[in-house]
Amino acid sequence: MNDRETVIFTHLRNGFDRGISRPLSWRAYQLDSMARMVRDNAERITRAVHADMGKPPAETVLMEIDMLMHEIRFVKPRMRMWAARHHKAAPILMQPARTWTHARPQGVVLVISPWNYPLLLSLQPMVDAIAAGNCVCLKPSELAPQTSRLLAELVPRYLDPRAVAVVEGDAGTATRLLSQSFDHVFYTGSGRVGKIVMHAAAEHLTPVTLELGGKSPVFVDGSTNVRVAARRIAWGRFINAGQTCVAPDYVLATPDVADELTKEIGRAIRMFFGADPRASSSYARIINVRQFDRLVGLLPRAEGSGTPGKPKPQEGCGRIAFGGSHDRDDLYVEPTVLTEVDPDSAVMREEIFGPILPVLTIPDAVRAARFINSRPHPLSTYVFSRNPRTRALFEDSVATGALGFGLPLGHLASSRLPFSGMKDSGLGTYHGKAGFLEFSHVTSVTSKPGVPDTLRIAYPPYTDPKRRLFRLL
Ligand code: NAD
Repeated sequence: MNDRETVIFTHLRNGFDRGISRPLSWRAYQLDSMARMVRDNAERITRAVHADMGKPPAETVLMEIDMLMHEIRFVKPRMRMWAARHHKAAPILMQPARTWTHARPQGVVLVISPWNYPLLLSLQPMVDAIAAGNCVCLKPSELAPQTSRLLAELVPRYLDPRAVAVVEGDAGTATRLLSQSFDHVFYTGSGRVGKIVMHAAAEHLTPVTLELGGKSPVFVDGSTNVRVAARRIAWGRFINAGQTCVAPDYVLATPDVADELTKEIGRAIRMFFGADPRASSSYARIINVRQFDRLVGLLPRAEGSGTPGKPKPQEGCGRIAFGGSHDRDDLYVEPTVLTEVDPDSAVMREEIFGPILPVLTIPDAVRAARFINSRPHPLSTYVFSRNPRTRALFEDSVATGALGFGLPLGHLASSRLPFSGMKDSGLGTYHGKAGFLEFSHVTSVTSKPGVPDTLRIAYPPYTDPKRRLFRLL
């Protein structure tokens, strides 16, 4: 008997083979329906995301709903142009002939999404995939169950069930889906699972997009406006309680600015969340106990640590300059700033993915660039410096998925900017045209009339006059 995943895959494959997802009018209608689905159900969506991780509704609107709507508004009027034939000049030897490229759908694509932006990271890849004319199977994260359930309820009501499906489930479901011969797999999540996904896709030689994580560094020097830098870094780090893939993960500050910056980040936290961030309706919670324990284990002197059943403090994780309190029952970790951190300690080895920010000192920009390049490629790197040579150094020599001067997270907001990691932080690109092309196969087409048969000059035997002509051409 076929399992659920095989049945759904076969159903979508039939839909694609029948050409349901190909017409541009169908694609436009689906994108309009998705926008309507989100508009009609905005309140249910913000409630579901809040139930999953205590995310403030305003943050879901700003960072998920608005960004998704922006992507739809950007992609829909442009996809016709991107999908059109693009004519190219044919080489002389081939003349008379016409050549062009044509972006065509890949087929049936699988989107596997994570829990931290459970709406955006499920639907934004779907926008690009549908715009490119594919049938789509979405597997949302089981760790955001309310949002997953809501997507499973709404998507079939608003989008064409012959070509779009949602399959809820955990790693087992994802594994069974990955055993199907999808035409593209788009995965967002950790690098550990990214390797499993790539391995499974390799069995079918299926192309993959991997949107992974990693430690996104920030460099700050004395030429910058420290107060503004501190606010922006604190905003990027502590939004969604630090559970953002492109959040500033640690700061490298020059010695002239490190102390002031640390103090200003503390002030910014107070400004954003008040004296007790736990009571703030603008501050989210950690997704689950496992993540909570991992995070508390990264703190230098965790309250209650060392007692049975509680995480042990890590060596070298420095000193708490700000924050540090936490409550397991409430999955609350206070926005925390660490100083005097050993660069080889646990908090500097793994992606933090929570509201903890180490501030390290580094002598200068050259040493900072070397430090970053000696570690796995980050998803983003942020630079707060007014010095043009420092900016040029980062732009020219730091290997990173994206670069932000004076602004964390900014590149997420524009559908004109491709979004991608680099090696450890990911493979492949999406958003806007880059996303459309990621889900397309760009086919090269050549067309030559049969008469006159000018190709005769290329046929054997290769006589002397032909050889001379080849050389000439
Ligand atoms: P997660 O645990 O929700 O996993 C992501 C998806 O992978 C889920 O749908 C899950 O069911 C599936 N999965 C889990 N185990 C699997 C397996 N063995 N085989 C196949 N699929 C499996 O999310 P996570 O991985 O904890 O997400 C956090 C990570 O994602 C962080 O590293 C973060 O930086 C990264 N991230 C990256 C981006 C980006 O756009 N680059 C965005 C968000 C998160």
